[in-house]
Amino acid sequence: MDPRPHDPLIDALRAENEAMRSELELLRDALERIPHGMCAFSGDDRLVLANARYRKIWNLPPDVVRPGATFRQIMDATPGSETDASRSRPQPAPGTEGTRSREWQLDDGRLIEIVVSRRADGSCVALHEDVTEQREAQARISYLARHDLLTGLANRAVLREELERALAGNRRGETLALLCLDLDRFKPVNDTYGHAAGDDLLRQVAERLRGCVREIDVVGRMGGDEFTVVQRGAAQPEGSTRLGQRIIEALSHPFDVDGHVVHIGTSVGIALAPVDGDDPETLLHHGDLALYRAKSDGRARISYFEPAMNERIDARRGVESSLREAIELDQLQLLYQPRFDLRDGRIVGVEALLRWRHPQRGMVVPDEFIPLSKETGLIVPIGRWVLEHACRDALPWPPHVTVAVNVSAVQFAQSAVVIDVLHALADSGLPARRLELEITETAMVRDPTTVLTALHTLREKGVRIALDDFGSGESSLSQLRSFPFDQLKIDRSYVHDMPDRADLRAIVRGVITIAEGMGMQTTAEGVETEAQLSAVRDLGCTAAQGFLLGPPMAAEAIAALLAGA
Ligand code: C2E
Ligand code: CA
Ligand code: CA
Repeated sequence: MDPRPHDPLIDALRAENEAMRSELELLRDALERIPHGMCAFSGDDRLVLANARYRKIWNLPPDVVRPGATFRQIMDATPGSETDASRSRPQPAPGTEGTRSREWQLDDGRLIEIVVSRRADGSCVALHEDVTEQREAQARISYLARHDLLTGLANRAVLREELERALAGNRRGETLALLCLDLDRFKPVNDTYGHAAGDDLLRQVAERLRGCVREIDVVGRMGGDEFTVVQRGAAQPEGSTRLGQRIIEALSHPFDVDGHVVHIGTSVGIALAPVDGDDPETLLHHGDLALYRAKSDGRARISYFEPAMNERIDARRGVESSLREAIELDQLQLLYQPRFDLRDGRIVGVEALLRWRHPQRGMVVPDEFIPLSKETGLIVPIGRWVLEHACRDALPWPPHVTVAVNVSAVQFAQSAVVIDVLHALADSGLPARRLELEITETAMVRDPTTVLTALHTLREKGVRIALDDFGSGESSLSQLRSFPFDQLKIDRSYVHDMPDRADLRAIVRGVITIAEGMGMQTTAEGVETEAQLSAVRDLGCTAAQGFLLGPPMAAEAIAALLAGA
């Protein structure tokens, strides 16, 4: 006989108990498996349960984390402290219902995030997560978003922000300079030694730039080989002039790229705030315009923004669209300026100078459209047109008179110039020795090998080669040795100052002596006064050209002058 009566109620309770136990087991098991640390406190702040992960995250011994332990006891054993950022976060008032999130920094560098949900009865459940790696990844991402990957410099977006910030300071009377630079001769390095070498060079440039600035200045890379520096807290413009010079000097020393010795260099355009603009957009634009000017002035120059640069750009935009049609619409014209032998006063040569008869703007001088035609490549068809017309016009002139045509670097770069010259000579019937090409030092510096090859080919055919604007750039004397020029044209800036400056006369006398020794003729350009004329004659120039002796004139006028002479 069964001593205990079979009680269905007890059975039911037992079964329910069994079910609850297994449910609790299941919950405990789940708790141990979640990736978070978890703990729960009762309304009187005593620990109800916690999983192993919780102890592990905080490195807490099991005897501390035991059911019934008070919140205080556990907190006393908990390492680290709440971060400032967490403390300053807005939170619901302590003891009220709701969710709080806090962040703790441990001494070993780890960062723990805690999300506490408190219920109305005062009990609470907290989830703990080690977010160290997550935060590091976030920091890395935001670093990458703010820095140029290659060089570690500020990127374009950050530079804009920095400018914005600096300009705000500016409004309180601080000074600010924006320096824009891009590298000379970077492309050849990239093309010759490959992109990895180019990248290496950019990193080295970034390093040198960092070495030029102070802590509060910001160096950025805008992309490609373009860099910018925001200079703050210096007296302007002296501060930016000094910094610009420092940068030019720093980048002028050779670089070691993959075992190759590489020479680059830079020009610097500077815009000052607030005079040149008080928002980042305007300032960057004006810095670029100044840079453009610095580069066209020659290498290793500093140029400050001037309002006239803006007007020039506007004018250029209008010019570009109509320049394309200039040849077809027969709007180009050559003027001819005579060059006189200083011993007998005879005209020995004539220089072809291009004009554009613009329907609205009238006669446009080359300085306003040659630079643009170089950039757009239009100089190639225009240069071809000049060669054809100059050779044709010169054919009937006395046989000892040469015609000089200006040729720019871009025409050499596309190797069109040799073919164009030979065509022009063949088509017109002009003997090669009566054609003289005038080339500037800038062209020689930019791409020496291509230019020299073309010049040698042309000279073998009998064409004469003159070095134009001698003395307007730098490195003049070294250029003389690179090619056996027939003629040296001394820039009008030298000629202009010659009567008043003994030092200039001494330099030019030296140059003329060297030129003579090398069998070159010398022409003084831009002679406007009798004083200049007698100065250049005394120095031993073989020829002169200028408004005093004869201005540029139409083809018919020069033909008449030559016929009468
Ligand atoms: P450049 O080769 O130095 O030409 C001499 C410039 O000086 C000419 O200006 C001429 O008009 C000017 N000039 C002549 N005598 C005097 C003088 O006594 N005083 C002053 N202040 N100036 C004088 P232009 O015709 O405006 O030409 C400017 C430049 O444009 C030229 O400088 C040359 O580099 C370029 N250029 C002209 N025609 C051509 C061309 O057909 N092709 C290319 N690529 N460039 C050209
Ligand atoms: Ca010339
Ligand atoms: Ca010249």
